[in-house]
Amino acid sequence: MAKILNVRNLEKSYTSGTKKLQVLYDINFEVEAQKTFAIVGPSGSGKTTLLGLCAGLDRPDSGSIHLCNEELGKLSEDENAVLRNQKVGFIFQNFQLLPSLTALENIAVPLELQGDKGATRIGKELLEKVGLSNRAHHYPSQLSGGEQQRVALARAFSNRPSILFADEPTGNLDSETGEKVVSLLFELNKEAGTTLIIVTHDLELAKKTQQILRLKGGRIVENEKTW
Ligand code: ADP
Repeated sequence: MAKILNVRNLEKSYTSGTKKLQVLYDINFEVEAQKTFAIVGPSGSGKTTLLGLCAGLDRPDSGSIHLCNEELGKLSEDENAVLRNQKVGFIFQNFQLLPSLTALENIAVPLELQGDKGATRIGKELLEKVGLSNRAHHYPSQLSGGEQQRVALARAFSNRPSILFADEPTGNLDSETGEKVVSLLFELNKEAGTTLIIVTHDLELAKKTQQILRLKGGRIVENEKTW
């Protein structure tokens, strides 16, 4: 099976003032295409940082990341953005919808900007898929947390990504709504073969995935495959 993500000897630190804080040490792992993968570990262990690096949102100090057959360190910012637009989806814990756009526009406008003529139609189809057709013209402030996260999921999926990165997708949701979002994520994996990379502190959610990477203090302490 093809590797969709391959991380080698990754190191990352943050600098604030004169202080340098190393948050990831010698990270090595790979993910096969179409699998589901969880990153777990205590708060502050580097999960979100690792997710952002793998999705090309930030750059490591050293090491390499191959994503969808491209080495991220060798891409220009523009090439990196094209790869993200075409093959990568991302959902954040705090949804990050644009407050001045309706639910439908949050999905359709990014597609339109990429020149997609069918943007509104695709947006409507995706809203139907996540059960929110009746909320198309609502603004994020008029939606519950669970509804906002489902809009974010529909948006993340609008470019039919090969790989979807999700940072605590259920973190701000009650358990029932969280379960709805989780089943949508796994449905996307089953139906479209989208690889899922999920950062979570929810071990029940992690157990549903096929591989679990456990971080502690910026290092991998466990890499368990169940397939
Ligand atoms: P986790 O997702 O496991 O909670 P993070 O990756 O968010 O961990 O953070 C790892 C460490 O890096 C923490 O100590 C955090 O305070 C620090 N950190 C995260 N982002 C930044 C940043 N932009 N600048 C400085 N330090 C950061």
